Amino acid sequence: MKKIAVIGAGLTGATAAAKLVQQGFQVTVFDKGRSAGGRMSSKRTEQGYLDMGAQYFTARSDAFKQQVQQWLEAGQAEVWPCTTALLCNEDGVVSLKSSKDEQRRFIGVPSMQSPVKALLQDIALNTGCRIQKLSYQRQSWSLLSDEGKTYTGFDAVLLTLPPVQVQQLMAQSSLPEVFDTAANLLEPCWAVAMQAEASPAGDAIFCQHPKLRFISHQQYKSGRNCCYILHFNAAFSAEHLQQSADFWFAEATAVLRDELNIKQAIEPLVAHRWLYASQNDQITAPGCIALPDQQLWAGGDWSYGGRVENAYLAGLALAQAVIDSHNLVQESA
Ligand code: FAD
Ligand code: NAD
Repeated sequence: MKKIAVIGAGLTGATAAAKLVQQGFQVTVFDKGRSAGGRMSSKRTEQGYLDMGAQYFTARSDAFKQQVQQWLEAGQAEVWPCTTALLCNEDGVVSLKSSKDEQRRFIGVPSMQSPVKALLQDIALNTGCRIQKLSYQRQSWSLLSDEGKTYTGFDAVLLTLPPVQVQQLMAQSSLPEVFDTAANLLEPCWAVAMQAEASPAGDAIFCQHPKLRFISHQQYKSGRNCCYILHFNAAFSAEHLQQSADFWFAEATAVLRDELNIKQAIEPLVAHRWLYASQNDQITAPGCIALPDQQLWAGGDWSYGGRVENAYLAGLALAQAVIDSHNLVQESA
């Protein structure tokens, strides 16, 4: 049986791992985080989860629609019955208006990572394990972790990390450069959770705004802390990348008071910085990266243009690449 190492337990890695296990491969997943989920992660609090990363997902491809249906049936996801609105701020002129649509939006329950964890349910997963170096000798991969542990004997490796982290790991392992523009493919996002009443305007607020991209209120998300999550846009997040949580709490409070017109108490909860959050739409998505001679593939949401659904499709594509390569070797043997 072929042994595969999947580095990264976000939706891309979990999807690839689940599909490979289904096909009879022996898979081990590694993630530096405390649990699986990656950018589909929610922070646990006594009052419920905070969705600090992805807020919801949509499904357009048949493959992802089928997967979402399975999650819905298993109670690992639900439809988010949100009311959409649009916040505009052009040269200081603010308008907040309803922007209703028919789009079905889904969330994991009780937290965003539930669907990822479900995919990984029966798969060997090493969390808190940052892989810092790979080496390929006699057609076998070894992985070295930050803690100095070595994991050996893998026939193939899948890297399902943001491009800068793929690049760093490849450089550290003396493997070839595979991106021209890795540094700019994913842009940062500061995410800020604030306790406050919901605005009657809506709980999924798209923003055409000098500072913000999206504001969400969690009142209709099962299992969540009933609060606001504000996502600052890439330009504003990059400009103030090193600022402290207090800076972000002050910015978020000003938006809630002055633009959403919240009159009652506002309490800061959590500010989280994502260095590699969302796709830069100025750069063409590069697809998955293949080094078949070394049995190494890399991919993620960034392969096809960001979004949860694209992470799922990247996971399927990576698994298929391993399966095709395996079948080719079998046929020529
Ligand atoms: P990731 O989830 O980033 O997984 C990569 C994993 O690799 C991580 O778990 C990380 O810990 C691990 N890792 C990194 N380096 C190493 C290493 N050296 N060793 C071991 N492990 C490592 N998409 C939507 O569709 N809808 C939304 O509303 C939405 N909102 C978003 C809001 C924010 C703030 C952010 C950050 C993202 C949002 N997205 C949204 C995008 C969505 O979250 C991603 O497209 C998707 O989760 C990416 O999954 P992935 O598996 O490709 O990558
Ligand atoms: P979607 O179809 O709900 O939204 C896609 C885009 O269409 C939105 O970003 C928005 O610009 C626009 N839009 C949709 N409905 C709207 C409405 N009712 N009123 C006004 N504008 C509307 O979802 P999707 O295509 O699955 O995209 C996923 C979401 O993830 C997007 O909102 C994207 O911005 C967000 N995202 C955020 C980050 C981050 O770093 N904060 C990273 C990746 C993705």
